[in-house]
Amino acid sequence: MTSTDPTPSRVLVLNSGSSSVKYQLLDMADSARLAVGLVERIGEETSRLVHTPLTGGDKRELTGPIADHGAALKAVSEELAKDGLGLDSPQLAAIGHRVVHGGLKFSAPTVITEEVMAEIERLVPVAPLHNPANITGIRTAQSLRPDLPQVAVFDTAFHTTMPEHAARYAIDVETADAHRIRRYGFHGTSHAYVSRETAKLLGKDPSEVNVIVLHLGNGASASAVRGGMCVDTSMGLTPLEGLVMGTRSGDIDPAVTFHLERVAGMSTDEIDTLLNKKSGLVGLCGDNDMREIRRRIDEGDQRAALAFDIYIHRLKKYIGAYYAVLGKVDAVAFTAGVGENAAPVREAAVTGLEELGLAVDGELNAVRSDAPRLISPEYARVAVAVVPTDEELEIATQTYALVRSGDGASGAGA
Ligand code: ADP
Repeated sequence: MTSTDPTPSRVLVLNSGSSSVKYQLLDMADSARLAVGLVERIGEETSRLVHTPLTGGDKRELTGPIADHGAALKAVSEELAKDGLGLDSPQLAAIGHRVVHGGLKFSAPTVITEEVMAEIERLVPVAPLHNPANITGIRTAQSLRPDLPQVAVFDTAFHTTMPEHAARYAIDVETADAHRIRRYGFHGTSHAYVSRETAKLLGKDPSEVNVIVLHLGNGASASAVRGGMCVDTSMGLTPLEGLVMGTRSGDIDPAVTFHLERVAGMSTDEIDTLLNKKSGLVGLCGDNDMREIRRRIDEGDQRAALAFDIYIHRLKKYIGAYYAVLGKVDAVAFTAGVGENAAPVREAAVTGLEELGLAVDGELNAVRSDAPRLISPEYARVAVAVVPTDEELEIATQTYALVRSGDGASGAGA
């Protein structure tokens, strides 16, 4: 099939944040990317649109005020139209939206109806930063192409298979249920994609392998995936739980928050900001970019070295924990900005775990590549892999499969 084929095969993927929209246009006939871009600082005087056509032509950058998401998407549409890829094209099959929180109801991509929108709105209290921005993005896209299927792909969906004993916190059940407090997990689109690609790399079907996925970006999370199904993940009610991240603390004794309130006199909002924005690597050493931290360590910086050690210690604890959860592990897969690029992190994370069958080969680990690859020596019982994530491709694939199947409500009611 080519792009001139009458069957619509293009999917626009939108990732709407509170002041930004990232987008990609893909042709699912051959999974080719046609254009990528982002609009940032929406609502400010200094908004910026960066558009890269991938069918020929140069990257374009526009600066100046873009008032809201509606204006942002209109500007994106105009840029796409200049390359003959306008959103009014009959070639566009659907728009796929990344939606951060789908709660328990959505275990698969779902065609957006008013009922689905109402449920996404109901989840705002558990995702106050993300779901409102996602809702705005969907409403804007709907007004632009009301005739087109809009599909929600949820960050939480892949984790809805977690058993109750992994998903529940050990707190009073009535209180937890009344306020929907449980572990939901995030980065699900990435964990789903990377666990599947890892199986492919091993020449196996996902149902045949157990994988520990380490998604290490600025946000970071681990998951234990048994036979293609998530059985545990490190993020919880919100993305704050789990690994040490760029600016988030990850696991912490909840009593620290009472202490900060009672003894340090901090407000709930101040504590929220401290743990989400001023903790993790940035809180420990002032930097959250792993490249900078490694550079400082090479110069003998003790604070950077301690931050790195704390980061690695937590990572190892999760590898060990998920090894125990899975019983048998076929592969550990590193992904996202740090996981794909930081060889020292990968090496340090498995050093000392030889008895568990884990090791990396120094030379293979040092190779820089965009391709999925194994970095463990041949003798290792557990494969260690670097598998670049591609959340946009996964969202487009799920969106296209759903609209082609015509099964609009496949995820609802789970
Ligand atoms: P997110 O999507 O969570 O914003 P990414 O997956 O893009 O994050 O990861 C961003 C992080 O990846 C940066 O903060 C940096 O620490 C790390 N990173 C990116 N490139 C490199 C590199 N070449 N070496 C080491 N770390 C890198």
